[in-house]
Amino acid sequence: MKKPNAILAGYGTSIFEVMSRLAVEHDAINLGQGFPDDRGPPDVLQAAADAVLDGPNQYPPMLGIPALRQAVAEHAGRFYDLEVDWKTQVMVTSGATEALAASLLGLIEPGDEVVLLEPLYDSYLPIVRRAGGQARLVRTEPPDRSLPREALASAFSDRTKLVLLNSPWNPAGRVLSRDELELIASLVEEYDTYAVCDEVYEHLLFDGRPHIPLMTLPRMADRCVRIGSAGKTFSLTGWKVGYITGAPSLLTPIAKAHQFVVFTTPPNLQYAVAHGLGKEGAYFYALASDLQAKRDRFGSGLAALGFEVLPCHGTYFISVDLRSVGFEGDDVDFCRAITTEARVAAVPMSAFYEIEPPRHFVRFSFCKRNEVLDEALARLRRYFRG
Ligand code: PMP
Ligand code: GLN
Repeated sequence: MKKPNAILAGYGTSIFEVMSRLAVEHDAINLGQGFPDDRGPPDVLQAAADAVLDGPNQYPPMLGIPALRQAVAEHAGRFYDLEVDWKTQVMVTSGATEALAASLLGLIEPGDEVVLLEPLYDSYLPIVRRAGGQARLVRTEPPDRSLPREALASAFSDRTKLVLLNSPWNPAGRVLSRDELELIASLVEEYDTYAVCDEVYEHLLFDGRPHIPLMTLPRMADRCVRIGSAGKTFSLTGWKVGYITGAPSLLTPIAKAHQFVVFTTPPNLQYAVAHGLGKEGAYFYALASDLQAKRDRFGSGLAALGFEVLPCHGTYFISVDLRSVGFEGDDVDFCRAITTEARVAAVPMSAFYEIEPPRHFVRFSFCKRNEVLDEALARLRRYFRG
C-alpha cells in the first residue's frame, strides 16, 4: 500500500489527548489539558440555546455571520484602539486552531522560512511543515524566558515569510513586553515579512500587565494577522469559535484555506459569541482577576510542597522545576506517576520543544474551581509527603 503523508504520519497523538485519556482512566483531576471547569457566562449560553431553537441552522456566510464580524471589529476598537473594517478584515473560524492552520496554509509557500519561539504550542510545527515551510526555532530559557535578541535577529533572513507569535504565551506563561514587540516589529519590517499573532489569551493577563497586539505598533497593521478564541474569552473551549483580523491582502489568501477546509462555523455559536464580545468591561476584568487569584492559590500551594514555581504572567498555565523536589525520572515519568498514583494529571513541558527538550519542567492548568485546585494540592501533598 502507498504511504500516507509522511509529515503528519510522523507525529504521535497530541499530548493533551494522551494526558486527558490517562486522567479519565485513573479518575485523576485533570490539570493537563487546559480547559476551565465553570459553566461559562449564562447569558452567552442562553444566547446560543436561543439561536439553536430560533435558527437559522443552515450554512452561514463563509467569512462568518455579520453580527460576529462586527463584534470582533468593535472589540478591537474598544480594547486596542484598532480600526478594523468588519467587511474586509475579519473572518470567523472553527477555533483558533483552524485560524492558525488557515493562516499558515494561506501564507506559506514551499521553501519559505518561518520563525517560531520555543517552547511552542503543539499545532504550530506540523502545519508549518505540511505547508512546506522550514522552521527556524528560537529557544527561550526559564525562569524569565526573555527573547534572546541576537538569536532572534539571526533567525530572520531574506527567506523568512513570517514569524509566529503567541502572547500571552502557552506554555511559557509569559507576556511579550513592548520592547520585545518593537524588536519583532523592526525585524518584520526589515525582512519584509508577516506576523501571525496567536492572541487567544488576550484577556488572561495578570498583575495589571497590558496585552499589546503587535498589530497596534507603527506600520504593523498590514503585516499582522491577529487570532482570538471564544474558547478562552468565554471559558467555553469546546465551542471552537475563533476569529482572525488582518489586512485584506493577508485575509484573502487565508480565507481560501478556510473555504476548502471547513468553509464555515456553526451559526448559533457565532450569534452567542457576538453577544459575548459586547459584554460590559467588568466581565473581562473579572475573567482575569479570578484567574489571577487561582494562579496565586495554586502557585503558592505548589511552592509549599517544595516545588520551584516559574513566573506566570498570563494564560491558564503555571510550570514547576522538578529538580526542586528531587524526582528521579524525567517530566514524562513525573506526569505519568502523578496521574496514575496521586491522581492529578499535568503535561510534560518537553512536549512543547522540537529538539533536545529540557526534561525537568511540568505544566499545570489552574483554570479550575478553588475546591478542585485544593483537592489536587491535597492529593499531591499525600503523594509527596506520604
Ligand atoms: N493557540 C494556543 C496557544 C492555545 O493554547 C490554544 C488552546 N486550545 C489554541 C491556539 C486553540 O484554540 P481553539 O480551542 O480556539 O482552537
Ligand atoms: N490549548 C490547550 C492546552 O494547551 C489544549 C487544546 C487541545 O487539547 N488541543 O492545554
